[in-house]
Amino acid sequence: MTKDEALDLALEALDNLLYWDNGKSDYDQAREAITAIKQARSTPVQEPVAECVWEHEDNDYMPGTWKSGCGVFWTFTDGSPVENDMKYCCGCGAKLKEKNT
Ligand SMILES: [Zn+2]
Repeated sequence: MTKDEALDLALEALDNLLYWDNGKSDYDQAREAITAIKQARSTPVQEPVAECVWEHEDNDYMPGTWKSGCGVFWTFTDGSPVENDMKYCCGCGAKLKEKNT
């Protein structure tokens, strides 16, 4: 469950308390709302993992040149970005991934 889904459940529980006549006591509905809010609060936010894919440029004039997914060109004297311990893109900050060729 995402944090937004947990918050939606909490809001629904509060809405039930105010408007719905579902046979439950106000106490039970308030307890359900509190439980749902606590659940939402403790649900971690899961950020999508952004990746920037780097591709080797076949360039006779600048061998060892790579192009990032966000448009940065970078030339290595030896090896690939990962072989040079680059873990994040220097152009956009996303996780660096090399395109499989
Ligand atoms: Zn990038």
